[in-house]
Amino acid sequence: MSIAENLATLRKEIPEHVTLVAVSKTRTTAEILEAYDAGQRHFGESKAQELTPKAEELPRDIQWHMVGHLQSNKVKYIAPFVSLIHSVDKMKLLKVINKEGQKNERVIPVLLQLHIAEESTKFGMSFEEVCALLESDIYHQMDAIEVQGLMGMATFTDDTDQVRKEFRQLKAYFNTVRDTYFKGREAFCTLSMGMTNDYRHGIDEGSNMVRIGTAIFGARK
Ligand SMILES: *Cc1c(COP(=O)(O)O)cnc(C)c1O
Repeated sequence: MSIAENLATLRKEIPEHVTLVAVSKTRTTAEILEAYDAGQRHFGESKAQELTPKAEELPRDIQWHMVGHLQSNKVKYIAPFVSLIHSVDKMKLLKVINKEGQKNERVIPVLLQLHIAEESTKFGMSFEEVCALLESDIYHQMDAIEVQGLMGMATFTDDTDQVRKEFRQLKAYFNTVRDTYFKGREAFCTLSMGMTNDYRHGIDEGSNMVRIGTAIFGARK
């Protein structure tokens, strides 16, 4: 199957209210262009040093998402153009993003990453840490970031019940955070959950943004 065919299949399956982010890490610009020519505009990368040269080379109307773990010292490379940073897992990182937003005279949209999986290898904050962040004075003084929602990764397992349970928990956190801290603020509307192996469960449990690489571009080397 070609990239265009894979995209067409996915688009048929994914409801219209769900944004498909094509995760293009390790893929060549030629592969990304193939998806672009098939109408795809949202692309995700997991490394700033890979994202920046690709963004320079590829069409300007691509919306670039940073989906992977982001180190504070790499924020400056993506701050001028990134559409959405999914992986904010520390106050310190958010502070740096805010500072870079100010330098670039723009407001940078972000998601807060929650740790919902059983694996300790996955990044993200606890629900309590998210609440503490959103209640802090430091957060309230930030004027160059906008928290638009939450992101989370389920445990990598064939146990469907486990994956569902984790996604359901994240959706419940999302509702609570929205109703507690973002009442009447429509910008807080994105729940990023679901990858190639679990996006159907993510959507069923309330995701409205999925991050899919393998099902579009094939297996990574
Ligand atoms: C690589 C990656 C994806 C896409 O993974 P696939 O299994 O190839 O769909 C999604 N989210 C994050 C954070 C990733 O690093």
